[in-house]
Amino acid sequence: MDLVIRGGMVIIGENAFRADIGIEGERIVAIAARLEARRTLDATDKLVLPGAIDPHVHMSLTAGPLRLTSSDDFATGSIAAACGGTTTLLDFTDPPDTNRGQSLRDALTARRTLADAQVAVDYGLHITLTDARDATLAEIPDLIAAGCPTFKLYMAYEGLRLDDGQLWAILDALARVGGLPIVHCENHHVIVRLAARYRAAGQTAPRYHALARPAIMEGEATARLIALARLADCPAYIVHVSCREALAAVRAARASGQRIYGETCPHYLTLTAHEYDRPGFESAKYVMSPPLRTAADQEALWHALAAGDLQVVATDHCPFFYEEQKEHGRDDFTLIPGGIPGVETRLALIYHHGVNQGRLSPAQWVVACCTNPARLFGLWPQKGQLGIDSDADIVIFDPQREVTLHAASLHQRVDYTPYEGQTVRGYPVHVLSRGELIVEDGRFVGQAGRGRFLPRGTPLLPPV
Ligand SMILES: [Zn+2]
Repeated sequence: MDLVIRGGMVIIGENAFRADIGIEGERIVAIAARLEARRTLDATDKLVLPGAIDPHVHMSLTAGPLRLTSSDDFATGSIAAACGGTTTLLDFTDPPDTNRGQSLRDALTARRTLADAQVAVDYGLHITLTDARDATLAEIPDLIAAGCPTFKLYMAYEGLRLDDGQLWAILDALARVGGLPIVHCENHHVIVRLAARYRAAGQTAPRYHALARPAIMEGEATARLIALARLADCPAYIVHVSCREALAAVRAARASGQRIYGETCPHYLTLTAHEYDRPGFESAKYVMSPPLRTAADQEALWHALAAGDLQVVATDHCPFFYEEQKEHGRDDFTLIPGGIPGVETRLALIYHHGVNQGRLSPAQWVVACCTNPARLFGLWPQKGQLGIDSDADIVIFDPQREVTLHAASLHQRVDYTPYEGQTVRGYPVHVLSRGELIVEDGRFVGQAGRGRFLPRGTPLLPPV
């Protein structure tokens, strides 16, 4: 064996027990009480878990009315991910430029070319679908064969959103070939009307971004998507569930046996709409969609995670500089680029607020951040578990280490963190990706460009 991780508390399934993990090349080859190898990495008093998977990130995403680009590229974003214990990222293809005759396959190739040269951890791509033309639907089987079985659908955002007929047609096409839709559920038309009303009244501060995107209409859109999925007999995954209304729709569907899955994000679990009361333009740092909700929503989301009504915590990492980029919306909240950084802080925040607070067990933390993303997105059992023959993507996590989060000491390329000054207990120390130590004592020691594109298989949908 090349390497043994010695004496850590290994988390496998529901169990946590002291064991050594043996690695040969890129794979785990043994898990036993005592192993010997050429090199050892001490994990005494540490937790040992599978490399985390963040299935929802946006590196170098150009979006919004001003066409601003998110500030992390695949190099900086994946290095930040690694430092936070995340060894697999799932990002998105851009919508193809159909005016130039670009196909979905071309869009996939373009995104891979950009990512392959930069990415420091392994990654996959969801396919973004923004129309339901015959030519688009006809490409779906080919994209699944190319390792992209998951398709992003938007119900909001001009230029991206699909109407109900288009959504149904795509769900119907995906159901036939085993593709999994992952859907942004908000009511576009009501948002546009509300935003216009606030602007006309001179109410242009960041807080009105949140008021224009009410929870009740996230719930409505979620329920509508679920009805369309039922009609098409298609499973569906709801991204960034933020509120009780959307949760209720997910729960009701699951109770009736419908294969509906969902994620929430660290910001909905740890922040509330009080951030929009910050003075001046500061609240722009918290402009994302859906917006932050109430403390009652937050508690409901924690309960849903613990109960398994939601399966995944993903970040929707989409950073924009406060100074240079958020600034564009100083006089008009609709021009604030939407999105916040988070790829580096997810594991630690969910451990601190979840496990330390008794809301999640360590096993549930691992399931939500590592295992369920692997299953749902077709990476199991290569990723998302500590198992024989799985990739040696491993996090050695110190449950006692206290870290105060500061933008200046994080690796994300952005001038703020929504968690500035917050102290968390529990932090990744060492991180391996395919057997290679890429983070040592919190310092990135890998290389940009070493990550690989992951062709993914059929989503394994946990029974409801
Ligand atoms: Zn997103």
